[in-house]
Amino acid sequence: MINFNVPPYAEKAYDYIRECVKNQKICGDGPYTKKCNEWIERKTGTAKCLLTTSCTHATELAALLLPDIGPGDEVIMPSFTFVSTADAFVLRGAVPVFVDIRPDTMNMDEKLVEAAVTERTKAIVPVHYAGVACEMDTIMEIAERHDLAVIEDAAQGIMSTYKGRALGTIGNFGCFSFHETKNYSMGEGGALLIRDQKDVEQAEIIREKGTNRSKYYRGQIDKYTWINYGSSYLPSDMNAAYLYAQLEIAEEINEARLACWNRYYGNLKPLADAGRIELPVVPEGCVHNGHMFYIKTADIGERTELIDYLKKNEILSVFHYIPLHTAPAGQKFGRFHGEDRYTTRESERLLRLPMYYGLKEEQVDDICDTVKKFYGR
Ligand SMILES: *Cc1c(COP(=O)(O)O)cnc(C)c1O
Repeated sequence: MINFNVPPYAEKAYDYIRECVKNQKICGDGPYTKKCNEWIERKTGTAKCLLTTSCTHATELAALLLPDIGPGDEVIMPSFTFVSTADAFVLRGAVPVFVDIRPDTMNMDEKLVEAAVTERTKAIVPVHYAGVACEMDTIMEIAERHDLAVIEDAAQGIMSTYKGRALGTIGNFGCFSFHETKNYSMGEGGALLIRDQKDVEQAEIIREKGTNRSKYYRGQIDKYTWINYGSSYLPSDMNAAYLYAQLEIAEEINEARLACWNRYYGNLKPLADAGRIELPVVPEGCVHNGHMFYIKTADIGERTELIDYLKKNEILSVFHYIPLHTAPAGQKFGRFHGEDRYTTRESERLLRLPMYYGLKEEQVDDICDTVKKFYGR
């Protein structure tokens, strides 16, 4: 059986977690959390990284950092995304305004964003699907013109770049996920990337229950106190230790994933050239991280048959998001702006093939042969 996902793991995690337990240092903002933050800062060039308990929480924290967002305000995002992208803003009473996606990358269509801006719009939330960047120059330009914040949902985007810049560092805030389904995992976890130094202090305060405890720990003040609203978004240092072991071999993990991705692409190219399936598109200027390999079938019926066929051949494949605007909560809290030309149609055709660190190239070959057999029947 070839699984769809096997969570990433690095051998050193044992030693690092043992050290946490031995030193009885397992609470938040310990030595491994600091190492992870510094690693991400170095790698991405962001002004500040704060490890969080999830990407969902990183996005919530970003929403709390937009001081004037409240009931009735609007946030523009794609409907083809995970619920967390919308939840963070719905929790503040804001309305997710969904715009259609581009069929080539499955990312929000940047050309449709400006028409969705109203006087209540406060932010744009691009989601970098499959670790392939949205058209950020256009999105940033619209945001600047209308004085909107940009929060990048880069849950799938660590190690990817757009015109040489790390995903998550272009907007005011960027959010990474270290859930076990992502390229690097701490079980449950994430990170908030802060572009501007001016936002760092408030972020530290809100993440620490509304207190200035971070400053206290750095010895900058002699006691800490409650100074703003906040919550608790600190992961245990044991989870950070688990993650840090993977960050140390991040390049190796990235290369292994890209090798599988490229092998899928090469093997399946003839099927795409024959017009039987479609393959993912990576626009010029975008470097991706092999987060996901998907194909597109003719329609939902063919996709269901292919999933069953692969399963009979001991290969697990999955489809992805049900568009948020068609879900009960999406209908209650949000609205779709413009026409749904691609979101529903393309999401029904998309099929994700097995992809994880440790997947062997021979296995990729087997999977591709099975897909070819399905289309050759
Ligand atoms: C995984 C994912 C999330 C949520 O990440 P968690 O760390 O599980 O909260 C949010 N957005 C997107 C696009 C994701 O893929």
